[in-house]
Amino acid sequence: MQALRLPDWRTAIELTEVDQPEPGPGQVVIKVGGAGACHSDIHLMDEFDAGVVPWNPPFTLGHENAGWVYALGEGVEGLEEGQPVAVYGPWGCGRCVRCRQGMETYCENLMEAPIPGGGGGLGLDGGMAEYMLIPHERFLVPLPDGLDPVKAAPLTDAGLTPYHAVRRSLPKLTPDATAVVIGVGGLGHMGVQLLSAMTASRIIAVDMRESALKLAKEHGADIALKSDDTTADQIRAATGGRGADVVLDFVGADATLAIGAAAARQMGDLSIVGIGGGSLNVSFFSVPYELSVQTTYWGSRPELAELLELAGRGVVESEVTTYPLEDAVTAYEDLKAGTVSGRAVVVPNEAY
Ligand code: NAD
Ligand code: ZN
Ligand code: ZN
Repeated sequence: MQALRLPDWRTAIELTEVDQPEPGPGQVVIKVGGAGACHSDIHLMDEFDAGVVPWNPPFTLGHENAGWVYALGEGVEGLEEGQPVAVYGPWGCGRCVRCRQGMETYCENLMEAPIPGGGGGLGLDGGMAEYMLIPHERFLVPLPDGLDPVKAAPLTDAGLTPYHAVRRSLPKLTPDATAVVIGVGGLGHMGVQLLSAMTASRIIAVDMRESALKLAKEHGADIALKSDDTTADQIRAATGGRGADVVLDFVGADATLAIGAAAARQMGDLSIVGIGGGSLNVSFFSVPYELSVQTTYWGSRPELAELLELAGRGVVESEVTTYPLEDAVTAYEDLKAGTVSGRAVVVPNEAY
């Protein structure tokens, strides 16, 4: 079968012929119906070297996947061939406390796990291929009626990551609060919709692209601002001088972290979700009093189930631009060039 592989660090990605996977005991093979192109893949293709993360290439890209159950390994119960499923992407050991809580992102034995690596598409073979091996049935969540794999794939990361970030800030997202979303791409366009669905807070979106600001307005942003050195002042002005209660930074560059810190309200939250390589000076007088600054990584298995329910009811919907598997390299080129609206999704199989 064809698969989009990262052969080594800082090496061009390529479509390669590889063996079709077969499920061992407790494992499942899915026929891939959608694999999202995440900006993290661009960071790992272009910027990472050995030692940044505990795993290494070669592997098949695509850590944001959905499809249909294709082959069941010995002992797997409760799933049927042809059933549409989403893949929970971070694969932990399954035994540590974090994994038992469903937070496999923060597995405490990641590289001692039965399958060492960050997950499919992150050290292990991902979904930019016709078929994908899922090492344990717990990583599959059945899709609700009406949600197809193309729309579901982005929910597993571009949706789940902002869902987790919004959820942990919910106590501060009161009806009189303001939330700021910086970067309205794959993650941010879901972030705006999730804030709108889960809170009554006012939403300010920030991006450099006019098309992204338009998308934010369509999905529920009250105000959309171009990102420049006046953005923080504009956010303060729009909040009567108080600042934003919650800032979700889906870029993470020096410039956006500076906007977030300057625009945040005292006792607010600044969540750094983007892996843009920036840093922020946090000291007594450099940020508002009692500002909580945190990074967040992906989300939990129960959160993915919640989000799929929400999307199944049509409350949130991923906006997608699709590419056949032959054009997977182009999907990443477009993402890098900033011409994708919402999420670029590679579609290796159009139906079961
Ligand atoms: P994307 O390319 O789809 O979207 C990024 C958006 O940010 C674009 O709309 C772009 O125009 C905008 N942008 C870029 N620079 C900006 C600036 N200075 N000011 C305002 N807007 C700016 O990317 P994505 O796939 O949504 O990923 C976003 C970031 O989140 C990436 O760094 C990615 O690696 C990271 N990420 C983190 C996690 C996590 O768990 N923490 C998960 C997935 C992705
Ligand atoms: Zn990702
Ligand atoms: Zn674990």
